[in-house]
Amino acid sequence: MIDVNRIRADFPGLAQTVHGKPLVFLDNAASAQKPRAVIDAVAHHYAHDYANVHRGVHQLAERATDAYEGAREKVRAFLGAASTREIVFVRGTTEAINLVAHSWGRHALRAGDEVLITEMEHHANIVPWQLMAEEIGFTLRVAPILDDGRLDMEAFAALLNERTRLVAVAHMSNVLGTVNPVQEIVDMAHAHGALCLVDGAQSVSHLPVNVQELGCDFYAFSGHKLFGPTGIGVLWAREALLEAMPPYQGGGEMIREVSFQRSTWADLPYKFEAGTPHIVGAIGLGAAIDYVTAIGLQAIAEYEHGLLEYATEALESVPGLTLVGRAPHKGAVLSFVMDCAHPHDIGTILDGEGVAVRAGHHCAMPLMERLGLPATTRASFAFYNTREEADALVAALYKVREIFA
Ligand code: PLP
Repeated sequence: MIDVNRIRADFPGLAQTVHGKPLVFLDNAASAQKPRAVIDAVAHHYAHDYANVHRGVHQLAERATDAYEGAREKVRAFLGAASTREIVFVRGTTEAINLVAHSWGRHALRAGDEVLITEMEHHANIVPWQLMAEEIGFTLRVAPILDDGRLDMEAFAALLNERTRLVAVAHMSNVLGTVNPVQEIVDMAHAHGALCLVDGAQSVSHLPVNVQELGCDFYAFSGHKLFGPTGIGVLWAREALLEAMPPYQGGGEMIREVSFQRSTWADLPYKFEAGTPHIVGAIGLGAAIDYVTAIGLQAIAEYEHGLLEYATEALESVPGLTLVGRAPHKGAVLSFVMDCAHPHDIGTILDGEGVAVRAGHHCAMPLMERLGLPATTRASFAFYNTREEADALVAALYKVREIFA
């Protein structure tokens, strides 16, 4: 059971007013607020234990290294990964997917091969593949969605063939909220000899994830959407794949030996962590993982499902409002349009009422084109949001109607 009042007290960012109104923060799909535990972990490390990792022989370097590597173990446990060798710290989901595209993609893909994505992908899971496709000459295929926002599984199955080398799919859509049947998708990809990359940017903060149960080959997520710092994220990949992949970036930390003739690479995961890493970001992410784990992702998922059902019904009561994304299995992301106002104008009016939402294409322009919409307004919930906040959103939407209708 979620004690939402106790939880809200942990998030100092939530306890403020904007434009004289209590803040209703519903922009969690873009980035989430931070609990005191994360803020304190970051501040404590900078104040007491800060030094560069791995290289030092002194006390602070040892403490920093222990904390940084401790965070890696927390991520391993959080994802249910077999080994910390499979946990690569990166800047975020975007960098994780670029790493796979540039390292695995350049190494494994050939002209004539196919990479299969879906119509609901974020630009982060489209553009890296386009860049590589241009270089290598493989074909990027796109599985369509159904009108309610589900992936069209029949069309997806029909697009899989012996040329498919990788399926790259969002676990949860940042626009539609759709939770894709990743286990089924992975099994179908594997049956065709393809690997499967899962973009977990939206899912890790809303539902339990176990990469071994999902059976996927790559999993990417960002710390900042999981109540951790910005600038830190994770690529998980099977150890054998990472072993076979060439480095993505070169520099310090990722080498074993360097000479002007040739260099050799460090063991996993350091082969993929060139340069001084975001040490304190990783430590903050570890604190965020401790925080959500103590509450429990299953409890979070159940609480948010209740919020989703409540908010969906409440939004449906607003005249002239159309929800976009009605998949039966979805997270608490509510994208919508109104017949009386542009999404950006809606966002501005809502801001005046203290309600923070996002308006625009949500880094999913091809999906917007499929939906025939230039933009939507999006309210995205986290486990610290309440039904009263959904009511405040609806009241603010009535204000929009008053002004524009
Ligand atoms: N994938 C999805 C589904 C997202 O929602 C986002 C961010 O909104 C990303 C990828 C990119 O994440 P980041 O900007 O943290 O790299």
